Amino acid sequence: MLMHIGGKEYEGGEGHWIEVKNPATGELVDRVPAGTKEDVSAAVDAAEAAFRLWGKKSMRERGIILFHAAHIVRDQHRDLARLLTLEQGKPIRESVDEIRGFANILEFYAGISAHSSGDVIRLGSAGDCMVIRESFGVCGAIIPWNMPVLIMGWKVGPALLAGNTLVLKPASATPLTSLKLAGILDSAGLLPGVLNVVTGSGESVGEAIVKHPVIRKLSFTGDCATGTKIRALAGAHCKDLTLELGGSDPMIVMPDASIEKAVEGAIRGRFYNAGQTCTAVKRLYVHEKISSLFIQKLKERIDAITVGNGLGSRIDMGPMNNAAQRDTISQLVEETRENKEGTILTGGSSLKGTAYEHGYFYRPTLVSNVVPGSGLVSREVFGPVLPVMTFPDLDTAINEANNTRYGLGASIWTKDLATTKRVFDEVRAGIIWVNRHLTVPPEVPFGGVNESGVGRENGQHALDNYSRTKTLFLGW
Ligand code: NAD
Repeated sequence: MLMHIGGKEYEGGEGHWIEVKNPATGELVDRVPAGTKEDVSAAVDAAEAAFRLWGKKSMRERGIILFHAAHIVRDQHRDLARLLTLEQGKPIRESVDEIRGFANILEFYAGISAHSSGDVIRLGSAGDCMVIRESFGVCGAIIPWNMPVLIMGWKVGPALLAGNTLVLKPASATPLTSLKLAGILDSAGLLPGVLNVVTGSGESVGEAIVKHPVIRKLSFTGDCATGTKIRALAGAHCKDLTLELGGSDPMIVMPDASIEKAVEGAIRGRFYNAGQTCTAVKRLYVHEKISSLFIQKLKERIDAITVGNGLGSRIDMGPMNNAAQRDTISQLVEETRENKEGTILTGGSSLKGTAYEHGYFYRPTLVSNVVPGSGLVSREVFGPVLPVMTFPDLDTAINEANNTRYGLGASIWTKDLATTKRVFDEVRAGIIWVNRHLTVPPEVPFGGVNESGVGRENGQHALDNYSRTKTLFLGW
């Protein structure tokens, strides 16, 4: 597949290509150009030209196009989901969820397009001010491989509705569905150049987007270390920045919680997308009073997870997306084993056998008695490994939950209102779920505190993040 620049296929890349492999089989799915900074410049030129017309459309006109695009995406969701599973590895059911999630986001922003508003500030004899929100112009978006479609939606929906045009870089492992979606958005009526997708590495294409002088607003989702680098580069040019980075979400289970629901919450929270989700349950804290029964049920449930090629039927969990990620997880579990920092109750190895030979499969893993400070709880574990710890009282659980550099999400499982209120007030995170984990519909603002990032995506908040105020001061 070629890049998507100025509403057209674009080869660029100076003849160099990136191979996209199926994580379940290692087979070649397709290849895309390894873009260069000249390709980024071509995309920015196209986006700047398109902004002159796109920025002048009303929000309602832009919303109608997003709505139309959502309709086409829904129509084509089967083909799109298949392509997503081929490049990302997740089970087809999860890919369908993600494609529908993309359509939901576009529809949500189309729906709020009627509510664009501003302020009037009356200053008596000094005059009156009219405050409007204006778009930035050309924005840059850089996305990871774990949820490439949903995260693309989080950026495309609000950025375009607010009147910006976009240069977007997908991860090298998962560029294909993003390219298809860009074509669909154009066919729904975007002006050529409103949405451009440049493929290539972080070092060449990513950094060229961050440094390009025309791009004044950047949104990045990915690893903390990359985010820190981007922040320094963007800060040097005073660019507006949204950063959605890593997380190590705690899930706290109190003795009054429904054990069945909490076990299911932990299973979905940790093993969805093979554990490669920023707000996955990465640290599970269970009250001592219920811990032995809870851990027994959890282990039984984990042992029942079927792992295989995401295109297969009745597959609960696919492979991890890439070898590097699988090896990082494997090494972390080995270190835990060697240093006696936890007890591996199930899993703890790659899957063996001919069906798994060339894929990046790792067994769903449960580790108990995890020593505080061990890599499994101090680092972001981006794979299907669940560390479970016990606690004697809520104070201890809250302290442990906050014992992290991250602060994306957290959940409390209880029926008690006072417990809920304490966790909501005292746990430092962008979102606190009660008797749930992971769900983030488009209406709900999403983003982290501490090293999990700055700014918010989703909801009205993202629309505000993709625009800035401009004031007309009338001194009568
Ligand atoms: P990554 O930081 O390695 O890559 C993300 C994107 O940045 C890719 O497109 C990559 O090519 C690009 N990139 C890499 N180096 C760059 C550079 N120097 N300049 C510009 N761009 C560069 O992250 P990843 O491994 O693809 O994704 C996994 C991480 O993403 C995890 O830490 C996860 O928690 C995080 N994540 C966060 C959220 C959230 O919303 N908070 C959502 C999903 C994933």
